[in-house]
Amino acid sequence: MSQLTSFDPEILQLPFYDERHRRLADAVGTWCDDRADLWEEIRTESPEKAGLRLVRRLGEDGWLAFLDPDAGEEGLPGDLRAICLLREALAYAEDLADFAFSIQTLAATPLLRYGSEAQQRHYLPRMATGSLIGAFAVSEEEAGSDVAAVALRAERDADGGYLLNGQKAWIANGSIADVYLVIARTGEGPGPLGLTAFLVPADTPGVRVGKRLDALAPRSFAHLVFEDCRVPADAVLGRPGKGFVIAMDLLERFRMTVGAAALGFARRAADTALARARTRRIGTGKLIDLQLTQATLADMDVQLNAAALLVARAAWEADRGSRRFARHSSIAKLYATEEAQRIVDSAVQLLGASGVVKDGVTERLYRQIRSLRIYEGTSEVMRLTIAGTLDTRRAARAVGDV
Ligand SMILES: Cc1cc2nc3c(=O)[nH]c(=O)nc-3n(C[C@H](O)[C@H](O)[C@H](O)COP(=O)(O)OP(=O)(O)OC[C@H]3O[C@@H](n4cnc5c(N)ncnc54)[C@H](O)[C@@H]3O)c2cc1C
Repeated sequence: MSQLTSFDPEILQLPFYDERHRRLADAVGTWCDDRADLWEEIRTESPEKAGLRLVRRLGEDGWLAFLDPDAGEEGLPGDLRAICLLREALAYAEDLADFAFSIQTLAATPLLRYGSEAQQRHYLPRMATGSLIGAFAVSEEEAGSDVAAVALRAERDADGGYLLNGQKAWIANGSIADVYLVIARTGEGPGPLGLTAFLVPADTPGVRVGKRLDALAPRSFAHLVFEDCRVPADAVLGRPGKGFVIAMDLLERFRMTVGAAALGFARRAADTALARARTRRIGTGKLIDLQLTQATLADMDVQLNAAALLVARAAWEADRGSRRFARHSSIAKLYATEEAQRIVDSAVQLLGASGVVKDGVTERLYRQIRSLRIYEGTSEVMRLTIAGTLDTRRAARAVGDV
């Protein structure tokens, strides 16, 4: 096996993973290491151009093959342990590569899980080769953490189709996607019970990209506008009224993968800080000789280990079909993203002035890590979710102690 920079080889040896995952980690780690020129190039391009190029490249090189149900599992496993490992390696190498991979996978996963055979056949083979780009559109300016507040309306028309009216906000790949997975209000029931998922090709009359947004870490990121956008009845994914379940099922699976990406960013920051501490002269010695530096590096290492174990556990729970995997997914996202923020900040501190120079590794990581504590469930929402899953039987047993 090659020397992997992006993974902790000891973690990969744990029984959470099997040989297919270890082979995958080896292959993607090597692929990322060999693409230094590509990473340099795409950083000079517009986020849109880079996004298009990276989705295509990931598809051509087989990293999205698991999105095609007919491709089989021979080469690349498509379970959550695999998706987490891929995100960790890509995030270590380049934020936009992780972004391209994650949004394509995010948009395709509901199709894999709820799509009809015809919908799967129509979209997934091209999503797996990167020739068709997807986006997942649930958020609105007035409905972020509270998905049940989605207001974009989808009303039945005389021909049995639906007319979509409203807006979507903060949509990753919004300005380059070929198809949007849209959660809209159809009104079968109140709040979360009245939402439906639709597949809306981006060239459908009545849908357009609204405001294009500049983010702290540049990427395709936009609002979408729907004005009398007509879609046929077979654009419904799953069945009417199931949109909230589809959105939550997706987010519960993907939260741990956000944790995995955070781990990739954090490991890159920690490696950069360690390299700097070993070479930077301070007084008569090196930065790493100072006990305060050693304490910071030790804290980083503990946080990295804990985050990697929580992500591995969450993915393993999901892959084995545990009913409580969503709890572990929230725990992994909360811990890994919060601690990654701390690790990146500590790395900037250890690098001193050179840590904040534009387009340096730590300056990029400092900008790139921030959004992970917001999207796919904020840290506050993760805390609420975890609190809601505490084991009350334990409290019942301990009642005599209080
Ligand atoms: C880079 C990026 C990419 C994104 N990509 C997508 C995408 O592809 N598709 C998509 O649909 N959306 C996307 N989003 C939107 C994202 O999902 C929302 O930003 C997120 O759900 C939070 O919603 P909000 O921004 O409206 O914040 P709000 O929901 O308004 O939250 C504001 C603050 O209030 C807190 N808060 C909210 N509710 C509670 C509560 N009950 N208790 C305590 N505190 C609370 C939050 O934690 C937060 O700190 C993206 C966002 C970002 C930053």
